[in-house]
Amino acid sequence: MADTKSGRAKQARSQERRRIERDMAEAVERGDEPEPDDDSPVECYRRKCRELAEFSVTERYQEETGKGAVEATALLCRPHAAEESPANLDAAYSGYVFRVEPLSDGSD
Ligand SMILES: [Zn+2]
Repeated sequence: MADTKSGRAKQARSQERRRIERDMAEAVERGDEPEPDDDSPVECYRRKCRELAEFSVTERYQEETGKGAVEATALLCRPHAAEESPANLDAAYSGYVFRVEPLSDGSD
Protein backbone atom coordinates (compact mmCIF):
# COMPACT_ATOMS: atom_id res chain seq x y z
CA MET A 1 0.00 0.00 0.00
CA ALA A 2 1.25 3.48 -0.80
CA ASP A 3 1.63 5.78 2.14
CA THR A 4 -1.19 8.18 2.79
CA LYS A 5 0.62 11.25 1.57
CA SER A 6 1.50 10.05 -1.91
CA GLY A 7 -1.83 8.29 -2.16
CA ARG A 8 -3.57 11.55 -1.46
CA ALA A 9 -1.41 13.42 -3.97
CA LYS A 10 -2.21 10.83 -6.57
CA GLN A 11 -5.88 11.08 -5.79
CA ALA A 12 -5.74 14.86 -6.04
CA ARG A 13 -4.06 14.60 -9.40
CA SER A 14 -6.63 12.20 -10.75
CA GLN A 15 -9.44 14.33 -9.39
CA GLU A 16 -7.92 17.32 -11.11
CA ARG A 17 -7.66 15.38 -14.35
CA ARG A 18 -11.24 14.21 -14.04
CA ARG A 19 -12.38 17.77 -13.46
CA ILE A 20 -10.56 18.99 -16.54
CA GLU A 21 -12.00 16.18 -18.59
CA ARG A 22 -15.46 16.98 -17.30
CA ASP A 23 -15.04 20.67 -18.05
CA MET A 24 -13.98 19.84 -21.56
CA ALA A 25 -16.91 17.49 -22.00
CA GLU A 26 -19.27 20.18 -20.80
CA ALA A 27 -17.69 22.69 -23.13
CA VAL A 28 -18.26 20.30 -26.02
CA GLU A 29 -21.85 19.74 -24.95
CA ARG A 30 -22.40 23.46 -24.73
CA GLY A 31 -20.97 23.83 -28.21
CA ASP A 32 -24.12 22.72 -30.01
CA GLU A 33 -26.46 24.75 -27.84
CA PRO A 34 -26.80 28.45 -28.45
CA GLU A 35 -26.39 29.04 -24.73
CA PRO A 36 -25.23 32.64 -24.45
CA ASP A 37 -22.94 31.86 -21.61
CA ASP A 38 -19.50 33.24 -22.00
CA ASP A 39 -18.77 35.78 -24.66
CA SER A 40 -22.04 36.67 -26.29
CA PRO A 41 -23.92 39.35 -24.37
CA VAL A 42 -27.36 38.45 -23.07
CA GLU A 43 -30.33 40.73 -23.36
CA CYS A 44 -32.53 41.44 -20.38
CA TYR A 45 -35.33 38.88 -20.09
CA ARG A 46 -37.99 41.53 -19.64
CA ARG A 47 -40.14 41.95 -22.67
CA LYS A 48 -39.41 44.98 -24.78
CA CYS A 49 -36.22 45.65 -22.87
CA ARG A 50 -33.17 45.63 -25.08
CA GLU A 51 -30.63 46.39 -22.38
CA LEU A 52 -27.89 43.88 -21.72
CA ALA A 53 -28.48 41.68 -18.72
CA GLU A 54 -26.14 42.41 -15.84
CA PHE A 55 -27.68 40.35 -13.07
CA SER A 56 -29.04 36.91 -12.60
CA VAL A 57 -32.11 36.85 -10.36
CA THR A 58 -33.03 33.45 -8.99
CA GLU A 59 -35.97 32.47 -6.87
CA ARG A 60 -36.41 28.96 -5.56
CA TYR A 61 -39.71 28.06 -4.00
CA GLN A 62 -42.01 25.19 -3.36
CA GLU A 63 -44.50 24.62 -6.12
CA GLU A 64 -48.12 25.12 -5.16
CA THR A 65 -48.90 21.48 -5.70
CA GLY A 66 -46.17 20.58 -3.24
CA LYS A 67 -44.54 18.44 -5.86
CA GLY A 68 -41.14 19.94 -5.34
CA ALA A 69 -38.97 22.98 -5.53
CA VAL A 70 -39.01 25.21 -8.55
CA GLU A 71 -36.05 27.36 -9.41
CA ALA A 72 -36.69 30.29 -11.69
CA THR A 73 -33.81 32.36 -12.99
CA ALA A 74 -34.06 35.54 -14.99
CA LEU A 75 -31.22 37.51 -16.47
CA LEU A 76 -31.97 41.18 -16.10
CA CYS A 77 -30.50 44.57 -16.76
CA ARG A 78 -29.59 46.65 -13.73
CA PRO A 79 -32.82 48.69 -13.40
CA HIS A 80 -35.00 45.62 -13.86
CA ALA A 81 -32.93 43.62 -11.39
CA ALA A 82 -33.42 46.46 -8.91
CA GLU A 83 -37.17 46.24 -9.42
CA GLU A 84 -37.19 42.53 -8.87
CA SER A 85 -38.46 41.28 -5.54
CA PRO A 86 -39.49 37.96 -4.03
CA ALA A 87 -42.70 36.94 -5.78
CA ASN A 88 -43.41 33.60 -4.19
CA LEU A 89 -43.07 34.15 -0.47
CA ASP A 90 -46.38 32.35 -0.04
CA ALA A 91 -44.59 29.30 -1.34
CA ALA A 92 -41.51 29.79 0.82
CA TYR A 93 -40.14 26.73 2.54
CA SER A 94 -36.96 25.86 4.39
CA GLY A 95 -34.95 25.87 1.18
CA TYR A 96 -36.42 29.07 -0.14
CA VAL A 97 -33.95 31.27 -2.00
CA PHE A 98 -34.12 34.70 -3.51
CA ARG A 99 -30.79 35.60 -4.97
CA VAL A 100 -29.38 38.37 -7.12
CA GLU A 101 -25.96 37.75 -8.57
CA PRO A 102 -23.90 39.84 -10.95
CA LEU A 103 -23.25 38.02 -14.19
CA SER A 104 -19.62 37.22 -14.54
CA ASP A 105 -18.09 38.48 -17.73
CA GLY A 106 -16.51 35.13 -18.27
CA SER A 107 -13.15 36.13 -16.90
CA ASP A 108 -13.26 33.93 -13.86
ZN1 LIG B 1 -34.32 45.26 -18.56
